[in-house]
Amino acid sequence: SDHQLTYPASPEHMDWSSHYPAFVLENSQEQIDAESEANVQTGLAVKRLKQDIEVADIGCGFGGLLVALAPIMPDTLLLGMEIRTQVTEYVQERIKALRAQHPGQYENAACLRANTMKFLPNFFKKHQLSKIFLCFPDPHFKARKHKARIVSTTLNSEYAFVVRPGGIIYTITDVEDLHNWMAQHFNAHPSFERVGEEEQEADECVKVMRVETEEGKKVERNQGQKFVALFRRLEDPPWR
Ligand code: SAM
Repeated sequence: SDHQLTYPASPEHMDWSSHYPAFVLENSQEQIDAESEANVQTGLAVKRLKQDIEVADIGCGFGGLLVALAPIMPDTLLLGMEIRTQVTEYVQERIKALRAQHPGQYENAACLRANTMKFLPNFFKKHQLSKIFLCFPDPHFKARKHKARIVSTTLNSEYAFVVRPGGIIYTITDVEDLHNWMAQHFNAHPSFERVGEEEQEADECVKVMRVETEEGKKVERNQGQKFVALFRRLEDPPWR
């Protein structure tokens, strides 16, 4: 259950400084300006980062994708979001250990406990993200459980809000029915189009996503199939 989870009232209320200490703005005029502007609005004293998070791994599990992507995208802030407390703590410890072993690296990755089915726009501003990963989401096989799937018409509108035009939603699953469900829901959504196979296969992140998540490794061991689909966030029509 997630009733003890807390959420920032808005993205401006979120203090990311403990998650990305290497990216906290120095005590410069730039910081004072950024802090005073945002903090006047929220009435809070929040340490601001030099840049925004751009990549979210939703339901990140044990963090395999996060720690594989971090060194590949060293200048981009990556966030894993996971609902299970112990799993979140495991990923946080994993990142802490990697930072200690490799000074200067993995500073751009962090993991936060959250129920991403609720309040995603409380964490991210409109069009903040360039990529969202939905890797091996829980399939919720039974029809009466489909409402628990993390792809739905409603949630896709939240993804459309937080992802910028041109941004990509990455999906992978070993459950063909869920793959079809995700494709159907994203295809039906006016803010998304499916990315063609050639572009998909040329994407470095797809290669990483296929092999680096813990669930993906399990599927590999069991010689299961992996279904991949990418969806591009389209420009909003001018009349909106
Ligand atoms: N993405 C990881 C991988 O590929 O190894 C984990 C896949 S696992 C099958 C699904 C994960 O999503 C679990 O760790 C689960 O706790 C998490 N999860 C399920 N619902 C969630 C929600 N609403 N918010 C955040 N995480 C969620």
